[in-house]
Amino acid sequence: MSEDKKAAKRKLRPATLVTQAGRAPFDHFGFVNPPIYRGSTVLFPTVAALEGLRQPYTYGTKGTPTTRALEQAWSEIAGAADSVLTPSGLAAIGLALLTATRAGAHALIADSAYQPTRMFCDGILTRFGVNVEYYDPLIGAGIAALMRPETTAVLVESPGSQSMEVQDIPAIAAAAQAHGACVIADNTWATPLLFPPHERGCDLAVEAGTKYLAGHADLLIGLVSANAKWAKRLRATFNAFGMGAGPDDASLALRGLRTMALRLREQERAALDIAQWLEDRPEVSRVLHPALPTHPGHELWKRDFSGASGVFSVILKEAPKTAVAAFVDGLELFGIGFSWGGYESLVLPFDCASYRTATRWAPEGPALRFSIGLEDVADLKADLAAGLDRLKVS
Ligand SMILES: *Cc1c(COP(=O)(O)O)cnc(C)c1O
Repeated sequence: MSEDKKAAKRKLRPATLVTQAGRAPFDHFGFVNPPIYRGSTVLFPTVAALEGLRQPYTYGTKGTPTTRALEQAWSEIAGAADSVLTPSGLAAIGLALLTATRAGAHALIADSAYQPTRMFCDGILTRFGVNVEYYDPLIGAGIAALMRPETTAVLVESPGSQSMEVQDIPAIAAAAQAHGACVIADNTWATPLLFPPHERGCDLAVEAGTKYLAGHADLLIGLVSANAKWAKRLRATFNAFGMGAGPDDASLALRGLRTMALRLREQERAALDIAQWLEDRPEVSRVLHPALPTHPGHELWKRDFSGASGVFSVILKEAPKTAVAAFVDGLELFGIGFSWGGYESLVLPFDCASYRTATRWAPEGPALRFSIGLEDVADLKADLAAGLDRLKVS
């Protein structure tokens, strides 16, 4: 591609960019999508080439044209200097944290982070001599008071997993970087289409591509993107692990990418419609959706995000466990399951109280997380209305 064409591409809007990025049809006889290259061994034409190690591909663990197509697409979309692929979102979180820590380091983790992130921190990082501390996700610029000379990593996740707190990421990032710490964002909920992580001050951004990138509940994949400052360190840590994603999964993720903007737009519309509808139901105490003006993080969300995805939570009015089970178990269109972001709607009862350490989770009633899929909203509302009726009588 000529430099002029590249410059023009940089100005493309996200919905166009997801259709263009990571494709070079005429490198592949004009076929629209990058082919699947399966490979461990990569041959060198001569001893001199082997010694130079300068050809684009040298060994399967370091990538293939298929995985690199996704990495390059993701870097363009995330506004990153480089991106790497991992076999899951959790592997991406581990890779990012290991890129930014060392023995004796101090790491600050949002108390509202994805629970397996905590398990990685408590089970692995601490074993290698990292001092892990959880902080109130609503701390904002106040994080400066928690910074120590040895603080090397600050992890943010906004909105918080399940509990949906919106963090002041630019303020946290500014304070952390003033101390030389690496700011890691778990950006899975928003994707770079709705929250450009590096533009907002994050050094590393993690995406569980399993969710909205894959979009069809049939694929596990993770991505870590880096700004220019952290790109080399990220790539070196990635190469040391040899834990890349396979080419078939990268190809499926590239297929997901092409419709990601479209799906997110529809899921945002449907989820907001259902969230507003739930807010007016007498059985519901609160709806935790940052695009609702009633959400405490609404102003921050409006300032920093360009949209919402399809995941939000609800606090019901006090109800017995059996009544909540009757509501959830009887739903016909909502599956009960963990990994969201697919085309099918999901619901999950949750309780953060058992693992929070820096803040207290004590809602006034049972909590449910919803992931809205691509079904007709009227059908989803009818299913939920029948469920809420069961809640009352049970
Ligand atoms: C699901 C999820 C992950 C982990 O992704 P997997 O691919 O399932 O390992 C990480 N962070 C968040 C916020 C998630 O929702």
